Amino acid sequence: MTPTQPLLPAEQIRAGDIPLMSPSVLRPPTDIFSRRADRLLRLADGHAMADFLRLCAAICQQQQALHDASRLDPRAALEKLAQALQPQLPAQVLAASGALLALDAAALSRLAERLINGDYPVDGPLFAALPLLGAALQAQATRSIRQRPLPEPQSQDSRCPCCGGLPLASLLLRGDSGHAQRYVVCSMCSHAWPLGRVRCLSCGNSRGLSYYSLAALDHVPAPPDHQQPHRERGAREVEACGECHGALKQISQLQDADAEACADDLASLALDLLAGEAGFGRIGFNPLFLPGREPA
Ligand SMILES: [Zn+2]
Ligand SMILES: [Zn+2]
Repeated sequence: MTPTQPLLPAEQIRAGDIPLMSPSVLRPPTDIFSRRADRLLRLADGHAMADFLRLCAAICQQQQALHDASRLDPRAALEKLAQALQPQLPAQVLAASGALLALDAAALSRLAERLINGDYPVDGPLFAALPLLGAALQAQATRSIRQRPLPEPQSQDSRCPCCGGLPLASLLLRGDSGHAQRYVVCSMCSHAWPLGRVRCLSCGNSRGLSYYSLAALDHVPAPPDHQQPHRERGAREVEACGECHGALKQISQLQDADAEACADDLASLALDLLAGEAGFGRIGFNPLFLPGREPA
């Protein structure tokens, strides 16, 4: 494990990085879950959490099948996922998914509503299967929002303007004008809405933000190069806010064209742990990684 270190103070991001035209909401590619699965499998190679990432990849492959099929209610979607993944799922998850499927429709839909809002039971007999329920809801939301017209994003939306979902992570990519543009990827419908660079999504603060990435102990940052302002940035960073002490994962396609917000978030949970040790709480919500109660 290597320590985090700030790579570039917010002040060094040039004003020219911010586009003049306000960008619109981005739709995810139709094969979003297959791409996510492929990315997870590549990231799993040699990774300390390889088994976890491969299980997530298997879930994403099944999410793609759900997304491509007809619309299902949460119970039917969960049942399909649990059946298809049965050989790969740990016994504890299988048992918990049986308990989830035994709930009546009203109880399951109340639980789904809580989960979408990040307010889920952090222990108990259902907990181990909640990522599976989250995956089912995510595939369904991505399918249904794709069929609706795109909304006009408001400046500084902290929740998804398409479905009201929580933010998963922010994504940095090259906009139409050639400038870097920052988006926030929705944890449910997978659409992404624009967000200003260097601004805390949680509290709106734009001062005293720090960026952390995993860097080798012997890494010596190159001197600032204004022709290539992103050269020294990591593909996976957290933006940590000195005001609200929240930290949002930032995935950069400028650094790694194959990066994918959900997959790269899951492969960089070590960064959240280190940010947590430094006093910053995770802002992003990823249905495939639901923190439980801390052991006493
Ligand atoms: Zn959404
Ligand atoms: Zn903040």
